[in-house]
Amino acid sequence: MCFGVRDAIHLALNQTAPVTILGDLVHNETVLNQLRSQGVKIERQVADVATPNVMISAHGASERAMEQIRGRGLNVLEATCPLVHYAHRVVARLVEDGFHPVIIGKRDHVEVRGVTEDLNDYDVVLTEEDVANLKERPRFGIAAQTTQPIDRVRHLVALIEQKFPRSEVRFSDTVCQPTKQRQTAAIELAQQSDVVIVIGGAHSNNTRELVQTCSRHCAQVYHVQTAEDLRPDWFAEAKAVGITAGTSTPECTIEAVEAWLRDFLEFQDRLARHVNGAHATDRRQEHNTETTELKPR
Ligand code: SF4
Repeated sequence: MCFGVRDAIHLALNQTAPVTILGDLVHNETVLNQLRSQGVKIERQVADVATPNVMISAHGASERAMEQIRGRGLNVLEATCPLVHYAHRVVARLVEDGFHPVIIGKRDHVEVRGVTEDLNDYDVVLTEEDVANLKERPRFGIAAQTTQPIDRVRHLVALIEQKFPRSEVRFSDTVCQPTKQRQTAAIELAQQSDVVIVIGGAHSNNTRELVQTCSRHCAQVYHVQTAEDLRPDWFAEAKAVGITAGTSTPECTIEAVEAWLRDFLEFQDRLARHVNGAHATDRRQEHNTETTELKPR
């Protein structure tokens, strides 16, 4: 789990007064259930908040949105990751310096909305087609959603430079370090694995990005939320299984997946030893009918 998510969970769990988190603090159901079980409320709309304190998630929020919340007489607690704050400052500086802001990311992602809601004029791009639809501007200032793969970001920056040779293009790299490290490690892992398991919430952007990255380097990649999603037939032919996880996946979920796999491999081993042993016995005793029941633990 990255430090931004860990700190946000810690802040939510250590409030003395009742608190409501606005939106998902993290995109992970296991973590959200743990928070709910400890009395933390989670709401999507500020109109549904019934506590005096409202927490902004690690993904951040726009100044406009926070002003609206304060306007309702509620206290705002910010769990915004410092690296998301950094991205907000970078974009504000690009605008101050006269650049037209272009954000590389998902238009409807909460982090991107947090950045763009304070801007009057901007573009959000995620694909080559989005870049093809951009209008020419004298100056483009580009930043990225913190969890975008850096390769995609650099590719789209290069496309914008090619498409607008007369424009000045300034790129500020706002992809966060934990995302970059995870992506690089995932590529190495995928290259060495027959099967890769990516663990993370169904709505976690960085988990889905990890799935896509691993899929470019390994033919069999599965996205699971917990150990219960694992299927034995995925590993029938596998000699090496890689495990990676999104930045909001709790350690206990990763450990449970690893334990399931180790149990499964041990079972396969015992089964193989049993079959080999049975063949050897068959050769010695043509009519041996003894069987041993083998079950995964
Ligand atoms: Fe912060 Fe990066 Fe973690 Fe997002 S993924 S909370 S930006 S460290």
